[in-house]
Amino acid sequence: MSELRDLYQEVILDHGRRPRNHRKMEDANFSAEGHNPLCGDQLTLYLKLEDGHVADLSFEGSGCAISTASASMLTGILIGKSEAESRELLKAFVEMATAATDEEPDDSKLGKLAVFAGVREFPMRVKCATLCWHTLESALNDSDEAASTE
Ligand code: ZN
Repeated sequence: MSELRDLYQEVILDHGRRPRNHRKMEDANFSAEGHNPLCGDQLTLYLKLEDGHVADLSFEGSGCAISTASASMLTGILIGKSEAESRELLKAFVEMATAATDEEPDDSKLGKLAVFAGVREFPMRVKCATLCWHTLESALNDSDEAASTE
C-alpha cells in the first residue's frame, strides 16, 4: 500500500503542476460545469464526441492539486475511448473512490487511475477527485445543470 501511496503523491504532484489538456475547446459539442463548494474547486469540461467516440476532451478552471490532477488524468485517458467505455470508467472510478477503506475495490479496468484509491484515506478529498467525473456525466447526458458534489 505504501508504494501505491508514493505513486499517488507523485501522480498528483505531476498532473497538478502540469495539467494535460488544460485548455478551452472552441468546437466542443458538449460541455458542463462542475463545482465542489467544500473545497472551492470549479471546472468546465469540454467534450467533442464523434461517431460515439471521444475525439477530444479538455478542461478549464481552478481547483486544488487533486481536482486538477484528476481532471488531467481523466482527459488523457478518455480521449479515443468510446462513449460506452467512458461511462464504464466513470462508474468504476466513482465506485473505487467512494468504497470503504477496508474494501478492495475492483480497479482492474482503471489502469493508472487506480492511484486515486489513495483519496479514500482523506474523505474530504474524495469530492475533489470525483468532481471532474460527475462533470463528465453531466456533459455526456447533455445536462444543463452544473454538476455539484453537494
Ligand atoms: Zn479540491
